[in-house]
Order: sequence, then C-alpha cells, then structure tokens
Amino acid sequence: MKVKKAEFIKSATKASQFPPADRPEVAFAGRSNVGKSSLINTLVNRKDLVKVSGRPGRTQLLNFFNVNDVLNFVDLPGYGFAKVPLEVKRQWQPMIEGYLANRPNLIAMVCIMDFRRGVQDDDLALIHAAPHFKVQPILVFTKADKLKKQETVRKRAELAKQFGVKAEEILLFSSLKKTGIPELWQRIEELTGL
Ligand code: GDP
Repeated sequence: MKVKKAEFIKSATKASQFPPADRPEVAFAGRSNVGKSSLINTLVNRKDLVKVSGRPGRTQLLNFFNVNDVLNFVDLPGYGFAKVPLEVKRQWQPMIEGYLANRPNLIAMVCIMDFRRGVQDDDLALIHAAPHFKVQPILVFTKADKLKKQETVRKRAELAKQFGVKAEEILLFSSLKKTGIPELWQRIEELTGL
C-alpha cells in the first residue's frame, strides 16, 4: 500500500476510549525493544509517527493510528522486559485481553520477533491466543540485517519447520535496511481485503 496519510488518532486503555470501529484494524505486538516502533514507522514510511524510545516502565497505552483513512494500526505496549515494574506487567494482560475481546474490526495482529532470538515463550502465548479472539496472527522477524546470509537461510528454515510453513512464508524485516516492507504489506492487504 502506498501510504499517503498516517496520523495518530488517540491513546486508550479501555474499550470505552477506543475510537469508532469503522475501519479494519491491525495491531502490532512484540517484546519491549524488539523493534516494533521502528517497524511501524518503516511500514508507513514516517520517521517518527511512533516514538522509538527504549524507555521501559512507561505508562502502558494502546496507541491508535489512521492509515490512508482506510485502515487503523494499533501499537500495543511491549511485553517481557525484565526491568518493567511488576505493577506495569500486571496491567498488560487484562488490557490486551480487553482490547482483543472488544474490537470487532480487529483483523490481524502482527507478532514481531527478533530474528536472531527466534520465538520466545511469551511470543508463543500471544500467537496462540490470537485465534481464540478471531484474530489472525502475522509472524514477522525483524532486525534481519543482523544475520549473515548463510545464517539467515538456516534460521529461516528452522522457523519454517517450527511453524509447518514454507521458508518464504517466514516474513523477514529490517527497519535498518528497509527490507520486507512489500511482503508485510501484502499479507496485511490480503487479510484486511484492502
Ligand atoms: P520497540 O521498543 O520494540 O518499539 O523497539 P524500537 O523500534 O524502539 O527499537 C529498539 C532498538 O532496536 C533501537 O535501538 C533501534 O534502533 C533498533 N532496531 C530496530 N529495528 C531494527 C532493525 O531492523 N535492525 C537493526 N539493526 N536495529 C533495529
């Protein structure tokens, strides 16, 4: 999709604050520091629509964005970071479940993982939870630029085997090298019907 417009709509913590559910919505999830903000910015071709911060423990909010007036993106708070205070961790699950359960227009959730690290237990828990909420998970492995070619082929084949798909179906992404953008957009468009 050629992005002509990408703008912040609002932040929310609960259903009563969500914007109208009048467009297909795609959520973005991942462990803190995985490269989620960079991936969203890269996807919409904006430098700082989402702030690349690296500050754990900040207030956890769902951030809604309007893309081309046809699609919403939702940046979900990162999870799994050791330094996040326990209180913040406790808020995460009910807020995410409240969102997943109360969003009829939510079609897909982009589950972002670090290509070097692969799939962690908390990633897997979220991937497995998605279908329960009738949300299609899209698995994306970012920071793909950090591995050399041979290692990339090996790692991709290993992930393909783990998920029972073809190697080409394992989406690789790099915000640094700007790779994987059309492939991820294609998947989003397929699922949202755009
Ligand atoms: P978030 O916490 O998941 O939103 O992650 P950020 O987007 O803030 O990125 C965390 C760190 O990883 C920052 O230092 C980024 O510059 C770096 N980073 C993000 N994406 C990539 C990538 O594709 N390649 C490389 N090499 N570094 C990245």
